[in-house]
Amino acid sequence: MRRLAVQSRNDGYSSRRDYQTITTKHTQKVTFPNNSIAFISTVGERENGSETFAVGGFIFPSIPTNLELTVNFANRRIETRNYRLTNNWNRVGFCFDIEAGGISEINIELNFSDATEASFWGLEFDKVSPPISEFEGSHIDCLNQTHLSPETYYFAHDTSINLDFSEDDNDGCHLDKGEDIELKKCSFCARLLPLRSDQPGALSFHKHNAKISGHQNECRACKKWRINDTFNPLRTTDQLHESSVITRERKILLQEPEILQEIKKRTGEGLKSQIWEKFERSCFYCKEPVELDDFQLDHTRPLAYLWPIDEFATCLCAEHNNQKKDKFPIDFYSEDQLKELSTITGLSIKDLSKKDVNEVQLDRVLTNLEHYAQEWDARTFNAIARKVIEVRPSIDLFQELSARNNGIYLEVINELQDRPDAVTD
Ligand SMILES: [Zn+2]
Ligand SMILES: [Zn+2]
Repeated sequence: MRRLAVQSRNDGYSSRRDYQTITTKHTQKVTFPNNSIAFISTVGERENGSETFAVGGFIFPSIPTNLELTVNFANRRIETRNYRLTNNWNRVGFCFDIEAGGISEINIELNFSDATEASFWGLEFDKVSPPISEFEGSHIDCLNQTHLSPETYYFAHDTSINLDFSEDDNDGCHLDKGEDIELKKCSFCARLLPLRSDQPGALSFHKHNAKISGHQNECRACKKWRINDTFNPLRTTDQLHESSVITRERKILLQEPEILQEIKKRTGEGLKSQIWEKFERSCFYCKEPVELDDFQLDHTRPLAYLWPIDEFATCLCAEHNNQKKDKFPIDFYSEDQLKELSTITGLSIKDLSKKDVNEVQLDRVLTNLEHYAQEWDARTFNAIARKVIEVRPSIDLFQELSARNNGIYLEVINELQDRPDAVTD
């Protein structure tokens, strides 16, 4: 195994940075002497029947207060919702359908029972993205569950207020520096979303004691809608999402982005086009021609056994990449194919015939086992432990973890028990 200069004992920090680092952002505070504030937005042309739109964001009033949130469309009230807001960050938002039609103005009114000033974060109005039709069997009421909105609308929530003030309606209002807000990246949708360190689980992430920030890697909406949604009948899509979390965490562990960058810098060409040319622009398995855009870069030695992508990769069509998946070359190719693959890739027949986990990477995992157990989704830990013990029966990562730190071990086990599907990856 060629050693990369970029590797160090601190590699785990790239994923720690992604999923568990808390960023603090400044927000804007609005003072509204009349206990109310009105914002304007517009809806674009809607051609195909009604479409689902939503308003939502995070609000920190200067004192506890009730909030009445109203949306008017073309001077008609669409919906009003009431919220009890604490003197801290609160989540508000709801979605509704707007029928087909031309460009129209939307008025969003916030009426506070007591407060005359509040800080805002990520206050937005937009079309719900992705469209509800993607959640087969679901409807507006599901998206509007108060413990899921506004994250369920998949807005960016990346500025303080992403709406216009209506100057006519906001006499005496003015903007100031608001309360700071803490944000953490979701490992699934990659949005930075709010949390409260002093009250884990209060905002966009569920609490998770074993994680560095005290919060889960993925946001509530992704956890509910993309990962372990119980009422979404599209189980196959769901399972894809499930294993994509594991795949992503494996790739981060193996530093694939850095490897790809290093190859491009060293050779002046992307790995994918190099492999495509090397395999004469055809699938190694069926020899059918493939396009650069849609062929699959197969790891040759499986990612699941901690082999990162490198210059020994194989060019496969989607169908054969799908068939090969986590299989070792020797379990997928004939003897003749192995010889040919060895000639093309430069990997020896011996290397292509071995069924083993990548020793260098296994050492890293073992060295930093407690760190990874806290950093990864429990499903990733489980998936890697299962592959390791399959080819190295003497190495049980679960047993090893429990011997080193039983608290972390129990957290992983608990997280797995919350996810009955976790063991089917
Ligand atoms: Zn998310
Ligand atoms: Zn093929």
